[in-house]
Amino acid sequence: MTEPTSTGEGTSYKRVMLKISGEALMGPQGYGLHPPTVERVADEVQRVHEMGVEICMVIGGGNIFRGLQGSAQGMERTTADYMGMLATVMNALAMQAALETRGVWTRTISAIPMDQVCEPYIRRRAVRHLEKKRVCIFAAGTGNPYFTTDTAATLRASEMKCEAIFKGTKVDGIYDKDPMIHADAKRYDRVSYDDVLQKRLKVMDASAIALARDNNLPIIVFSLDEPGGLKGILEGRGTYTIVHG
Ligand code: UDP
Repeated sequence: MTEPTSTGEGTSYKRVMLKISGEALMGPQGYGLHPPTVERVADEVQRVHEMGVEICMVIGGGNIFRGLQGSAQGMERTTADYMGMLATVMNALAMQAALETRGVWTRTISAIPMDQVCEPYIRRRAVRHLEKKRVCIFAAGTGNPYFTTDTAATLRASEMKCEAIFKGTKVDGIYDKDPMIHADAKRYDRVSYDDVLQKRLKVMDASAIALARDNNLPIIVFSLDEPGGLKGILEGRGTYTIVHG
């Protein structure tokens, strides 16, 4: 099953991965966390949670720190990447707090153990949380430098046997060129993993796309700016691009 479809009562999806970039939590600011934006994203997650869908989340860290930026400024790359991974933990904790004030029980699960702050990643334990309808936010990326949170989202989605990855962005799908700059940019409804790689479409980095392809995991790119948009797409409405095999 790849396409989001309605069963009449909701969605055909049982378990999904929601990937959002750190920048999606930055709101109109140029940096960091914008609490009203965090609240708004939590509303979107709550709507999907109310449908009974089991939710995994991965949140990036680019609103706070990106390893590549640090290394470009002379910092040793692996150290910079670990700082980026720590940034994702901050974002995860902010989202956990926003979800729990809504009564949506959430576990932040880190690839780098930090027991006083959140749970370490233990696959079978995470599956149990999902079965109990707790939102699982996978933090600290893959726990390894030289990767991104897109790869972490694909990895955890595969491990948790999610049916699809929903990637929330500023635009409603994948375009042949940046629609914020080019008025004639064309949106794809469907695109293959190989086309994404060959045409270098900006969806996720190449290692994440290759991992999704090898595990036959569809990626659905949609706009996070549309209130109720994610719920609508799960029910088979709205505009999005699906990356498939
Ligand atoms: N990072 C890493 N390994 C991972 C995931 C992330 O080293 O498995 C680091 C990397 O430095 C990256 C930063 O964490 O730049 C923040 O993640 P990302 O750039 O994916 O965040 P986003 O662009 O989604 O906000």
